[in-house]
Amino acid sequence: MLLISCPVCGVEGDETEFRYGGAAHIERPASLDPENISDEAQRDYLFIRKNPCGLHFERWVCARGCGKWFHAARDTMTLEFKAFYAITDQPPKLAEGAPAGPKGRGGRT
Ligand SMILES: [Zn+2]
Repeated sequence: MLLISCPVCGVEGDETEFRYGGAAHIERPASLDPENISDEAQRDYLFIRKNPCGLHFERWVCARGCGKWFHAARDTMTLEFKAFYAITDQPPKLAEGAPAGPKGRGGRT
């Protein structure tokens, strides 16, 4: 069971009370130069994702709380959340294996 804490409203719960929204911080090629998007850039944006063994930045939505999107940093090996942060924030600087407080939970950054 994943324990998640919404950084917007503070609701805490397991993964059934939130929805995973995929990898975070993926830049859309159309936001850079919409007139000259290559097929490869569009393909990579739509279909190519990292599958890291370790720290992964993800998007989640507070489905049964405020309904807002937020970001989370999670270790894919231990399933431990390292941090929860606002959707507009850049990813926190986290060292692999750094302590993040209680097991299964992360802290706000
Ligand atoms: Zn919330």
